[in-house]
Amino acid sequence: MKAIRVSRFGGPEELRLEEAPVPAPAAGQVLVRVLAAGVNPYEAYIRSGAYPALPALPYTPGSDGAGTVAAIGPEVTAVKPGDRVYIAKCLSGTYAEYALALEGQVHPLPDRVTFQQGAALWVPCGAAYHALTHQGGAAAGETVLVHGASGAVGGAAVQFARARGLTVLGTAGTPKGRELALRLGAHAVFDHTAPGYLKEIEAACPRGADLVLEMLANVNLGADLKLLAKGGRVVVIGSRGESVIDPRDLMSRRGSIRAFTLWSVTPQEEREIHGAIAAGLADGTLNPAIGREFPLAEAAAAHAALMAPGAAGKIVLIP
Ligand code: NAP
Repeated sequence: MKAIRVSRFGGPEELRLEEAPVPAPAAGQVLVRVLAAGVNPYEAYIRSGAYPALPALPYTPGSDGAGTVAAIGPEVTAVKPGDRVYIAKCLSGTYAEYALALEGQVHPLPDRVTFQQGAALWVPCGAAYHALTHQGGAAAGETVLVHGASGAVGGAAVQFARARGLTVLGTAGTPKGRELALRLGAHAVFDHTAPGYLKEIEAACPRGADLVLEMLANVNLGADLKLLAKGGRVVVIGSRGESVIDPRDLMSRRGSIRAFTLWSVTPQEEREIHGAIAAGLADGTLNPAIGREFPLAEAAAAHAALMAPGAAGKIVLIP
C-alpha cells in the first residue's frame, strides 16, 4: 500500500510517500481501507519535532480517518467487512491507504456523512465537545465566544454550542472564514485581525462572555480574561507560545482558565464525545465543513496549508 512515512523530524518535505506492507489485523483489531484522513495541527507539531511526546522514527502520521472495514481480526464483533466507519486514534497512522485500529477505535459512520466529514470527527469534534462541556461546563442560555471559529475545532464548537442553546459569537481572519462561521450557526462573527475587534465584541456582549474557547492562547489569553462575564471560564484549546495575563482580571470576575489535551480525556468522557458526535450526525446539527482536499501524495502541501492563515473548514487527505 501507499503510506506517508516520516523518517526524521523537520519540515513538511519530511512527509514522504512510500510503499509499505498492508498490516494484518490480530485479535481485537480492525483493518480499515482509509478513504479520507484528517490533517490536524498536532501532526505538524510532531512532524517538526516540537511536541512534548514524539513517536519513534520512522512513523506514519494520523489519528483521524474514515473508510470501510477491509478485514477484522479474531474476536471482533462490533464491525464487519464493508461497514462504513470513522477512526478515532489507531495503531498504524491514517495517512495511508490502510490503517490498523483497535475495535474500540472505530465507530459507525452514517450513510449521509461523507468520508471526508468522517475524517473531521475525532480530534476536531472531540476537542470542541470536551472544551465546551467537560471543561467549560456550558449551559443553555449562556454566551460563548469561539475565538477562532473558522477552523476545524472552532467550526465544530460553533455547531455543538448552537445545538445546545448557547448564544454563539465567533472570530475569523478572512471574509470566507467569517461567512463559514455564520453558516455553521454563529449568531455574530468578528474579524480577529481588525484593530478594535475586541471592543466590538464587548459592545455586542456587554455582560461579558460566560465561556471563551481559545484557539491561540499565546496571542489572546490576556484579552480573553477582560471579555469574561462574572463566573466566566476560558478554555485553552490551542496555544503556540507563552502568554501574559493580569490575574486581577480573573479575580474581579471570579473567572477561571481551564486547559487540556485530548489525549488526557477519561474513558467515560471519550464515550460521551462519541455519543455526542453520533447524536449530532444523526439529527444534522453536526455537519463538519470540509475546506480543502489533497491527494495522499501531497501531504506536505496539506501541512503547509494547515499552518497558513485563512482557515475555512477541515483539511483532509484522500489516499
Ligand atoms: P485550524 O483548522 O487550522 O484552525 C485554526 C484556527 O485558529 C482558525 O479558526 C484561525 O482563524 C484561528 N486563528 C488564527 N489566528 C487567530 C487569532 N489571532 N485569534 C484567534 N484565532 C485565530 O486548526 P484546528 O484543527 O481548528 O485547531 C485549532 C487549534 O487548536 C490549534 O492550535 C490546534 O493545535 C489546537 N487543538 C488542540 C487540541 C487539544 O487537544 N487541546 C485538539 C485539537 C486542536 P483564521 O485562519 O480565520 O485566522
